[in-house]
Amino acid sequence: MKKNIPIFDGHNDTLLHLQDGLTSFFHPLEHTHIDYERAQKSGFAGGFFAMYTPSPAREENREDFMNENGYKFPLPEGITQAEALTFTHKLASQLFRTEKENPHTFRVVRNVKELKDSIDQGKMAAIFHIEGAEAIDLSFDSLYVLYKTGLRSIGPVWSRNNDFGEGVPFCYPSSPDTGDGLTEKGFELLHHCNHLGIMVDTSHLTERGFWNVAHATVAPVVATHSNVHSLCPHARNLTDEQIRKIADSGGVIGINFAVNMLRADGKFDTDVSMDEIIAHFRYIADFVGVDHVAFGSDFDGTTIPDVLQDVTGSRKVLKALEEDGFTEEELEKIAWKNWVRVLEETWKD
Ligand SMILES: [Zn+2]
Repeated sequence: MKKNIPIFDGHNDTLLHLQDGLTSFFHPLEHTHIDYERAQKSGFAGGFFAMYTPSPAREENREDFMNENGYKFPLPEGITQAEALTFTHKLASQLFRTEKENPHTFRVVRNVKELKDSIDQGKMAAIFHIEGAEAIDLSFDSLYVLYKTGLRSIGPVWSRNNDFGEGVPFCYPSSPDTGDGLTEKGFELLHHCNHLGIMVDTSHLTERGFWNVAHATVAPVVATHSNVHSLCPHARNLTDEQIRKIADSGGVIGINFAVNMLRADGKFDTDVSMDEIIAHFRYIADFVGVDHVAFGSDFDGTTIPDVLQDVTGSRKVLKALEEDGFTEEELEKIAWKNWVRVLEETWKD
């Protein structure tokens, strides 16, 4: 394998860990999956940096929702637009300050040329992504303002309900068909995003929400951090019909390293083999083609396998994919070219 195939990743929650000063991103951070030094070492070229506003903390323990088969966590309560917008500003500010203070090593990219240039120059490329669109008001004023600042990707919902649609709960085993899809305002949001060239992410939507987006959008359908339901029947994973639709639209699926979305038994157990991880990439590549699978780690947003450890684990995955028989050209597609292709077709410039 060419030594330095860059890896561009569909989802991280690193900003959430750095909200009190992203400048710390350039110092080793032991409690996170990604910091600049480890990212450089592993060829992590950048990715979608999520702005996610947490739900208010709850008292319950995880065990409260476990049963003999698996688990069924209820959807957390919603948050207000004012709370979400304030929090989004806080995270976005850290993103822009990091760029300002490190102009030669970190860049918030707003178009495909900037993305490609950053990857070529070894400058970390960050895409401003909102996970759960609560920050967007129902007149869409904040959407246009945030777009102007750099917003280029939105997941209409996280796994909770909002004015735009219904989220899929963390359930195992479960179909993703757990409730309603997009609301009327959700369809309006989709149309505004299509108009502006903002990517719309279907991860965390119910199956109905997925199909609402898939049938109404003019852009390729994407799931930035979701896995294969046939291999792990978690409500957050994608059925074969959904995978087929994403491929038919020219879209892509970013493979999520959450242990409970990789393991066939859905357990919160970090003992996951590399083979179990590779199986999700292989399944999609064999089923619909290598053009439709990519990385979507969920670093700093989930519990990942021991075998991966942190961002350096992505390099190990790429190596294992090579050992599994993927050619260099295919590895490049999985590692970054599929994401670039989809963004070329989605963004307006
Ligand atoms: Zn997520």
